[in-house]
Amino acid sequence: MKVFIVGAHPEPQSFNTALRDLSVRVLRGQGHEVRVSDLYAMNFNPVAGPADFANRSKPNYLNYALEQRHGYDTRTLAPDIVDEIEKLLWCDLLILNFPLYWFSTPAILKGWIDRALISGLTYGGKRFYDRGGLAGRKAMVTITLGGRPHMFGENGIHGALEDMLRPLLRGTLYYTGMAVLPPFVAWHVPYISEADRKEYLGACERTLSSIETIAPLSFPSLDAFDGMLYPKQ
Ligand code: FAD
Repeated sequence: MKVFIVGAHPEPQSFNTALRDLSVRVLRGQGHEVRVSDLYAMNFNPVAGPADFANRSKPNYLNYALEQRHGYDTRTLAPDIVDEIEKLLWCDLLILNFPLYWFSTPAILKGWIDRALISGLTYGGKRFYDRGGLAGRKAMVTITLGGRPHMFGENGIHGALEDMLRPLLRGTLYYTGMAVLPPFVAWHVPYISEADRKEYLGACERTLSSIETIAPLSFPSLDAFDGMLYPKQ
């Protein structure tokens, strides 16, 4: 498999980065090809704005999604976006590795999503969910967080983690067509013992060892909806 890991932690010595480095080692050890975008090390620009387009179709009014399409068609997107798209289209499995920030991704990763998952190519019109432009690929998130597991259960104070991650798991990864594997989660990371953190690294290694057989999360198929996207009777 070709695996593209996008990492978004500002500290190279962090546990989160250790998780990412372990993933690279384990996957390469299994014979997979791995490429990494380390967003902080790259000083990745997360701002989706007019500078992303060298040759706008409408210079006087920025419609970001339409300019993404035009920029891709005319090969005038900013070079850093082109690089990320090339890695996305290359991969069979996309892994997003990040610490949970405010129930969500760090801003630098959100900016990567806004800029790299371009309209027209990864989604557009009725090309979403299982008809999305990245269909045939898998995606997984590997995350660290501060909270404890009991805070995130069905009756937990924050609700289920997969509900919290819905904008990412369903609204982004599945939206663009990818089969989304269950997240790998390391809980309460800064407050647990060194030994417990090592155990998480072992658990991550075991998960990655069976990566090709893990069943994806279940989301609706567009086949269940009519041309107006009403549920079929
Ligand atoms: P680190 O602090 O980098 O690492 C923890 C310890 O592990 C350190 O002592 C480090 O030295 C050690 N370590 C490094 N490498 C290894 C290794 N190989 N083996 C063993 N130990 C190692 N949490 C939530 O639950 N919900 C939120 O909504 C949320 N929002 C946040 C918003 C912001 C802006 C911030 C800054 C934090 C937020 N957090 C939240 C907490 C955050 O998710 C966690 O602090 C983070 O994920 C912990 O992972 P880390 O890699 O940063 O830990």
